[in-house]
This record gives sequence, structure tokens and C-alpha cells, in this order.
Amino acid sequence: MTAIPRHPYDTAATCDLCHDRRPAAAPEATAQSAITPGRRALLCAPCGDDRPGRSHPDLLAEDFTWRAMTRRATRLADDYAAGRWLPYEEEHRWAHGLARTYWTRDAVDAALHDPGSYVRAGRLVRVVQPLPTLLTIIGDGDRALRPVRALVDALAHPGPTRP
Ligand SMILES: [Zn+2]
Repeated sequence: MTAIPRHPYDTAATCDLCHDRRPAAAPEATAQSAITPGRRALLCAPCGDDRPGRSHPDLLAEDFTWRAMTRRATRLADDYAAGRWLPYEEEHRWAHGLARTYWTRDAVDAALHDPGSYVRAGRLVRVVQPLPTLLTIIGDGDRALRPVRALVDALAHPGPTRP
């Protein structure tokens, strides 16, 4: 196999947070990178707009935690919608409780404390686990939490199976 030579700018061509999309051109979408001090981190528009640390000039550890959590939440929501993931009944019940909870660090910590063996064995709990960390810097209705909210709501109120 022959390695295809990469364009020297390829490494800088994707968002520093998600590595999926191209950085936005707008200067306000840039943030100081904590990883490479002195270099401006480049963020795509969705990451720049939605990251939990967006009010800080620096990329925070919480931003990376959020990115990983959002990725997992989106993948699980896709798997659920496509029928590739069938949650346990207990996961539906746990999601129902979580959906009705006002999300604070303490409230989500309490939900995670003893969720039951089926929930512990399932996939949903692994998406929710980093949530208390994020709730130290953002609140319940924050837009950064929309993908996780959407997942929890979909599980809390399962509709008819899609064709
Ligand atoms: Zn991004």
C-alpha cells in the first residue's frame, strides 16, 4: 500500500474540537488552545456556537468532554431511531425520570448514583456519565445539552416504531 501524501495544510483544515468540519472563518469562532499555547484554536461554527465554554476565550477541558458526550449521544440516538439499539425497559424508565428532572450537578449525580443493574449495563448511562461535570459550568437549558436532551426525551417518550 502506498501512503497518499497529505497536503501540508490538511492538519489545520479541520475544527480543533470535533475534527469533522472546517473551521469557521469568523475570528470570534477562534479560541486560545490550551493544548498548544500561543496558537489560536480553530473551531467550526457549531462547536464555536455551542461549546459549553464559549464564554471563555480558552478551550476548556469541559469543551472536549462535551464534544465526546455529544458524539456518543448523537450516535446512540441514530442507533435508536434506526432500530440498531433496543434499550432495556429500565433505561426507558430511567430516561423518563431524567427527562422530568431539572438538570443540576447534584440532581444528575443522584440519578447516576444507583441507576439499577440494567441501566448500569446499558449504553445510555455511558452517555450521561460526563453530564455532571458539564453542569458545573452550564445550566439546565443550555444549548450545549440539546443532543443529550433530545436523546433522553426520545427514550422517555418512545413513540411508535418508525417504518
Ligand atoms: Zn467542530
